[in-house]
Amino acid sequence: MKESLPACRNIIKLLRIGDVIQGSPAIIVFLSTHAYNYPETIIIYGTVYAQQIRHGSAREADILRIRILGASGSEVADRRAPAFLVDGESLLDAGTIGLSLKIREEQKIRRIILTHAHFDHIKGIPFMLDNLVTRGTANTITVISGRDVIRDLKTNIFNNKIWPDFTKIPTPDRPVLRYRTASASREERFNGYNLVMIRVNHTVPAYGIILTNPKGKKIAYTGDTGPTDRFWKKVDEYRVKHLIVESSFPNRLEDLALKTGHLTPALLKKELAKMGNPPPKIYLMHAKPQYFPEIEQEIQGIARGTIRYLRQEEVLTI
Ligand SMILES: [Zn+2]
Ligand SMILES: [Zn+2]
Repeated sequence: MKESLPACRNIIKLLRIGDVIQGSPAIIVFLSTHAYNYPETIIIYGTVYAQQIRHGSAREADILRIRILGASGSEVADRRAPAFLVDGESLLDAGTIGLSLKIREEQKIRRIILTHAHFDHIKGIPFMLDNLVTRGTANTITVISGRDVIRDLKTNIFNNKIWPDFTKIPTPDRPVLRYRTASASREERFNGYNLVMIRVNHTVPAYGIILTNPKGKKIAYTGDTGPTDRFWKKVDEYRVKHLIVESSFPNRLEDLALKTGHLTPALLKKELAKMGNPPPKIYLMHAKPQYFPEIEQEIQGIARGTIRYLRQEEVLTI
């Protein structure tokens, strides 16, 4: 493509983000935009914009966009703990934030919805709050979860011993952290989104999530859970088509999975059978890294090609 350019007589300039194109018709040739260190660009009504949807808000496009910051059941090199960035503004769990996002992406986050308070699901929050305060960005992050999860965070993490109480920093009237309690099974609303949190079966208070965007696109996410019933009933009732579900251990460790409130591929198969209409798109998370190949093979045994593990940094569009 580049070689043929000098032969074109009517090229005026190389477009830059923010350029306004006057006069029409215009023929616009896309070079490899990455060669010029752009994000993808898009041209609307003659103005060149950076395309935001890969990293930021996609609400204009009616799409629910979920970026997988981490989906591992523990942390090792190249595998991060669970965190799912929805439309650039909301996190489902926060096992990793600052290690995955650029500063400007971190600053766009407005809320974190927590399934439970286990360390691998909250680990990114203390550093994120610290970053926001030291940068003076004046963001307030709202952490949303069940009353018991929020109580555990207050008592055990942001207690001025393990980490500061950020609900008073930088000032009590404009803090960087706020808590919002969600009642189980009652619909919560924020920014046109609808959130339902349903109790699941883990070793600590834990909730599965169904999140619906303003255009009705839905994602269901179990967080960590062993066998459960209520959550599947709601997923059925809400006719969810995309599900992120955990599968932490291989089949031979079923006893350990049950004792620690987790699933194996064989247990997952039984869970999915509890629904009348299981979601057609099912993605797995939370495999313990040392068992990953074994679990993946077992999953193929129960659902060849239809269920797969999430890849870190992939983006799901719904
Ligand atoms: Zn857990
Ligand atoms: Zn976990």
